[in-house]
Amino acid sequence: MVKVSRVEENSVASELGVLPGTELLTVNGRPVSDFLDWEFLTADEELVIEARQPDGEEIIYELERLDGEPLGISLVPPAVRRCANRCEFCFIEGLPAGLRKPLYIRDDDYRLSFAYGNFATLSNVKERDIERILEYRLSPLYVSVHATNHEARKVLLNNPRVPDIKAQLGRLAEGGIRFHCQMVIVPGLNDAQVLEESLTDLWNMGDAVLSAAVVPVGLTQFSHLYTARSMDRETASTILNKVEDWGDKAKTERGETWVFGSDELYMLAGRELPGPAHYGDFAQIENGVGAVTSLRMRVAAGLDRVKRREGDRIGVVTGLAMAPLMEPLLDQLGQRSGAQFELIVAENSLFGPTITTAGLLVGRDILRALSNRTDLDYALIPAETINEDRVFLDDCTLDAVREALPMPIFPSYDFIDVLESETPVAAV
Ligand code: SF4
Repeated sequence: MVKVSRVEENSVASELGVLPGTELLTVNGRPVSDFLDWEFLTADEELVIEARQPDGEEIIYELERLDGEPLGISLVPPAVRRCANRCEFCFIEGLPAGLRKPLYIRDDDYRLSFAYGNFATLSNVKERDIERILEYRLSPLYVSVHATNHEARKVLLNNPRVPDIKAQLGRLAEGGIRFHCQMVIVPGLNDAQVLEESLTDLWNMGDAVLSAAVVPVGLTQFSHLYTARSMDRETASTILNKVEDWGDKAKTERGETWVFGSDELYMLAGRELPGPAHYGDFAQIENGVGAVTSLRMRVAAGLDRVKRREGDRIGVVTGLAMAPLMEPLLDQLGQRSGAQFELIVAENSLFGPTITTAGLLVGRDILRALSNRTDLDYALIPAETINEDRVFLDDCTLDAVREALPMPIFPSYDFIDVLESETPVAAV
């Protein structure tokens, strides 16, 4: 059963009299257990929907949809499937206590992998789930492989009952499912031979594996489960050599890079990031693969749109990792706009100094970085630091931070989004 959260005005559903709170039980005789069933079963043109109205009365809606006309129904978000693993490197295990509850949910849900590109390990899928993936053709899926070697994967996921990922991917691939894979690398566990074996196995799956990303383990000062080595420059460099060798092979044999080191891996190894051609269609940008190159591209493409703002003093808050990469971008923006940009590097007070990503800065960090800066006309902060409710990870709201600061601040994804207006506007 799924429940209706909202019915659009003047929609097919509103004409039928569907109300928020209505429970949708079956479609054309098949039970509806979640949003996937609903999406796929209602793709038919002729629908018989059994439902229970909010007052408990059962009703049958019969309708014919013309040309895929939307029904106008939003559903109550699904209960997320929880993760059955206990990875030592789990970022959620490395969160400090006292944050809002949803941040501690360890989801591992193939449905969200298909719908939103969340990575899932497939550790908790049952036979019925595999059948659904195949029937509904849930492709591509984003899969946290980490290692194809079964024994190594059990250790990495800290789960002795984890299914054999090679067998799972193989079966799904036979049914036409495609994958974007990631491997979080834990030095000493899956960086050397295990990584080579994993890349070989994924490569041998042919076009079923659309891309593979290699990401260094990211630890906070609270990663209490972690017992392995942390990633150092030499290890990152060795891993990157392997990734680039495979990438060269892929380009020669398949015409595309196929396997990518994450931006963080390049930064840890102290290497220059590749240009746009390396990343193709940037399939794993949400996974931090090519995000810096994409930012550079967007700034280059948008420079002409930046308005003159002669003499403005603009602060740009970022994390330590991005600081060296930002300087050249701010030089270009300064030349184009006539403004004076100042890079302000903030330390992460919530996760500790090992977390240097700009997008994980919290409200307190922004306050600390800017509260005495009465000399600035305004400041830009990374838009990724706030959620859709404009709240930082530490529960500070953007409004509260704004009120406490002596200058206006504007969340920005790529500078251009704020600076292309005559007067700066927030990107979110
Ligand atoms: S799979 Fe591992 S990293 Fe992902 S949520 Fe579960 S325990 Fe955390």
